[in-house]
Amino acid sequence: MAQNQEESRVKLSRIKDTNIAKLTIQNPPMNQLSGEVLSLMATLLEKVKSDERTKALLIEGSGLFSAGANVNEIWEIAKEGSVQKALELLAKANAVVDAVQNLGKPTVAVINGYCLGGGNELAMSCTVRIAAEDAKFGQPEINLGIMPGMGGTQRLPRLIELEMALRLLLSGAVISAKDALACRLVDRIVSKADLDSEVRAVAEGLIVSAYPQQRRHQLFDVKKFDELITSNSFQMLMQSKSRDAVDAIIAGVKLGMCLSLDEALKLEQKLFAELVVKDSAKKKLANFLKIDLEPQKEEVRTKTDTSERERDLKMFREMVREFAEKEIRPRIREMEEAGGMPRELFNQMGEMGFYAASYPEEYGGGGLGKVAYCGMFEELSRVHGSSAVVAGAHTGLACGAVFLGGNEEQKNKYLKAGLEGKMMGAFALTEPSAGSDAGNIKTTAVKKDGGWVLNGMKRFITNGADADFTIIIAQTDPFLKKDGLAAFIVEPKWSGYKVTRVEHKIGIKGSRTVELALEDVFVPDENLLGEVGGAFKMFMKTLNGGRLGLGAGCVGSSKRALELAFQHASNRTQFDNPILSFQIIQSWFAYMRANIYFMEQATYNAAKMADEGKDIRLEAACVKLLCSEMNMWNVDRALQIFGGDGYSDESEIGRIWRDSRINEIVEGTNQIQQLLIFKEIYNSKGKI
Ligand SMILES: Cc1cc2nc3c(=O)[nH]c(=O)nc-3n(C[C@H](O)[C@H](O)[C@H](O)COP(=O)(O)OP(=O)(O)OC[C@H]3O[C@@H](n4cnc5c(N)ncnc54)[C@H](O)[C@@H]3O)c2cc1C
Repeated sequence: MAQNQEESRVKLSRIKDTNIAKLTIQNPPMNQLSGEVLSLMATLLEKVKSDERTKALLIEGSGLFSAGANVNEIWEIAKEGSVQKALELLAKANAVVDAVQNLGKPTVAVINGYCLGGGNELAMSCTVRIAAEDAKFGQPEINLGIMPGMGGTQRLPRLIELEMALRLLLSGAVISAKDALACRLVDRIVSKADLDSEVRAVAEGLIVSAYPQQRRHQLFDVKKFDELITSNSFQMLMQSKSRDAVDAIIAGVKLGMCLSLDEALKLEQKLFAELVVKDSAKKKLANFLKIDLEPQKEEVRTKTDTSERERDLKMFREMVREFAEKEIRPRIREMEEAGGMPRELFNQMGEMGFYAASYPEEYGGGGLGKVAYCGMFEELSRVHGSSAVVAGAHTGLACGAVFLGGNEEQKNKYLKAGLEGKMMGAFALTEPSAGSDAGNIKTTAVKKDGGWVLNGMKRFITNGADADFTIIIAQTDPFLKKDGLAAFIVEPKWSGYKVTRVEHKIGIKGSRTVELALEDVFVPDENLLGEVGGAFKMFMKTLNGGRLGLGAGCVGSSKRALELAFQHASNRTQFDNPILSFQIIQSWFAYMRANIYFMEQATYNAAKMADEGKDIRLEAACVKLLCSEMNMWNVDRALQIFGGDGYSDESEIGRIWRDSRINEIVEGTNQIQQLLIFKEIYNSKGKI
């Protein structure tokens, strides 16, 4: 088991029919180079080195390359004040970059998303660096009061022009792929779509040609170095940084550039270890991790975990938002017209760790819980409601059901692949005669040798035509009503699973919703999900999570609606004044904003409660009921602010308005939510 878990954090594979191996870091959400990841990489690099068939190695990160070291591990060393422990960690980290550089085979860093700190140092140890357009580079250590420790102060000024190297090291700035290409930190930028084919071609080229064994070496000019460091622009750049860190970096570069690379790397490690235990580093690290240095140890530990989580959540949301704006927004029209999401976009979101973020680490997840799920849903809905629905039905409902009810084999087969975006899931509960009355399922499951035979109809199934696995809820014994329900993991490729109709909807047109016929579908015993009779409880719990996602989606739609309406109201003039100046319009804006505040507070509060393991039946129903109604009011007012333009089929606000209406219907209609809420009131005898 331990072995499996480790293997899932770094994976070694081979590109089919080639002698090119691939090392993939998959430690979501940020692919941090933790001690565990580094150890595993070192072992796998040994394998690559001794494998005669492998002639070249690609190093990549799943979703993003790597945002660097695990700051919490560094904080532990700083807190303890142990130079020895710092040196041990650095030895582990440098063993990896050394192994890459001395592999005796060409290596290609395949960089997408963040490539920061240790991630950038790892990339620099490769023979060639190929970046996707969205890649971002930097050595942000100085902002934490520390310095690079995996060769950053030595490889960077040997690889790129001295002034730029110093700027990156002393400012901690993050630069775009374009800027990285301009300063030759990367060798090439390619589009995401071409990345795989391009790196393969580069690796094949490196195998047959003599590849550069040595790093490009800059001639070091001490005079120029001194001039730069004392120049006004550098003085300005350094003034807000920790003096100790500035001094250590300057000393590292200045002394190190006069040494061989091996000696220079040792010097960097020594400087790092001396710096990290200084008070200035401790303060900056504590500040970054939002740790109060005064309180007792126990309390510090909790806060460390919390603040790192907050940081990961923030970065995760930024990543989803950027992806939604850059990759989804330009394709909205295409999806709305095609009535579905292109598969590669769905896969991409999986590779970026979107589906995995909320799930526990043992299944390859990011461990960020329901708050991350809501964050993803909000950011996707802000741009395109349909994309959020596709991702939500997959990750929240289908993967959620396997997570809640599945055994280890099922989780390994369907959940892991689902979270990586390699398999798409659908969740089929609703039937022509069982909508709100979900216990009245008519699809039958009859026991046969070695499995079950399913017959029946399902309606309104999101992803049902495109999925690789569909969770089917069926009745095993009509007499038992909801206690006879069971869930099955069905692969649509199996005989008897038929898509009989595609729904033509008034909104969320970019997601495909279908009717299914199940005609003598044989499901092997191993695909029974949970216990016979346990499905009702399981899907009620799954739907609780789904309702929170829906609430977050409403927050995203409302925020975008307000933004669009504000732009329009500022530009549109009537009666010689911008319509924004009219009090009725201002009053709508005020209500919209207040609604958003309440929606956001309620949704994320309930998500936090869920992450704390609390029962959120009541909260999820309240969130679903009021968020969907507040959002509908908001987007309706926003549309009204657009006047006739808002009623156009082409307008974004029109699409948001159409898409928003579904929220009052799915995941249990709003009337059903009222029943659930009243049930809670009744059970507590009216006491709150
Ligand atoms: C776009 C879309 C995507 C969907 N995706 C999925 C999916 O992926 N998987 C899935 O299983 N299902 C899915 N559904 C189905 C959805 O969950 C159902 O439509 C919903 O549960 C309502 O069921 P119904 O449409 O049969 O309405 P009905 O249950 O027939 O309800 C009709 C009306 O009667 C009201 N009503 C019913 N009972 C009561 C009561 N006791 N008291 C007061 N009012 C009541 C309802 O609130 C509603 O207003 C999807 C639906 C749509 C439209």
